[in-house]
Amino acid sequence: MKGNLDTLRTLLSKPSKIVITTHQRPDGDAMGSSLGLYHFLSSLGNEVTVIVPTEYPGYFSWMPGADKVMVYPMTKAASDEKIMDADLICCLDFNTLPRIAPVDETVRASGKPILLIDHHLMPDEFEWMLHDVKACSTCELVYRFIHILNEQPAISMEMAQCLYTGILTDTGNFQNGATNQAAFRMVANLMDCGLNIQFVQEQLNQNGTESKLRFIGNSLLNRMIIRKDIGLGIIIVDRKDARTYNLQAGDTEGLVNYPLSIKEIQVAVLIKEEKDITKLSFRSKGLWDVNDFARTHFEGGGHKNAAGGRSVLRSDLIIKKVTELFEKAQKSRQSS
Ligand code: 5GP
Ligand code: MN
Repeated sequence: MKGNLDTLRTLLSKPSKIVITTHQRPDGDAMGSSLGLYHFLSSLGNEVTVIVPTEYPGYFSWMPGADKVMVYPMTKAASDEKIMDADLICCLDFNTLPRIAPVDETVRASGKPILLIDHHLMPDEFEWMLHDVKACSTCELVYRFIHILNEQPAISMEMAQCLYTGILTDTGNFQNGATNQAAFRMVANLMDCGLNIQFVQEQLNQNGTESKLRFIGNSLLNRMIIRKDIGLGIIIVDRKDARTYNLQAGDTEGLVNYPLSIKEIQVAVLIKEEKDITKLSFRSKGLWDVNDFARTHFEGGGHKNAAGGRSVLRSDLIIKKVTELFEKAQKSRQSS
């Protein structure tokens, strides 16, 4: 933990006004860590508000406290007021303020002290930082944080459900490279606190829509480019698909992983056209560093094996750019 812990303890020892915020298009770890910390800090008597920069997927609405989350575009004036009035702003599951745009402007203008809890590579500097790229999820770090504050913190079932959601989703159901011993230890402890794993599994994975499943089928059948010769798989989601399948926030989550199930594929890219920009998601096997790729070429970043970025180019030009860059990278790998 970086920063003066005594000052932070003092701040949290009296009822304070705390804002928790997390990255755009919140995923399971963003929602789970924010709501997990929300429940903990609320239980200490603080007035806590969670603000998300963009809508969160409907499949997280079951999470305890999700109904109280303020979605910035819908609550701008009230959210700005909460931020300007806060004693502390907690930034969870992201490493740099542009990741919460447009909330970043108010956060900067407020000049309020910031506590960052995160596991992404290369974070900016803040007053207090609990940052560890080896953590399986930000939920792991929230769990660590509450144990720094209190050796035996009371963990409610609601908190346990939230923290488990982030651990489960960020480790890809305990299967990807982020999975560590702490993940399993934490889950065992959370089960002691009343966590029902099956309930969470039903909420997350058995609560979807037919159109989402048909959309996945169409993407794999008609929108996937497989280049075994260079180890690259690309899936495109265009605006027409979004309309046809009535795509909702979060409906493309996980789609990017499919090409990696093919033996020869080393890197998978999802190209998703949005209103005025195209979002990219990168996933890789083993030593391929997609964080570097996303940072250098697509104004993004993330982790070594999972990163995101953006582009203003047309999708066909993005496909061309990704393919050419990747061919070049493959060649230089093979010659080195
Ligand atoms: P996803 O592909 O699921 O959107 O994101 C994969 C990982 O990269 C996540 O950890 C996410 O927080 C991070 N990420 C996604 N998009 C961006 C981006 O535009 N910039 C940065 N720095 N990280 C991103
Ligand atoms: Mn995360």
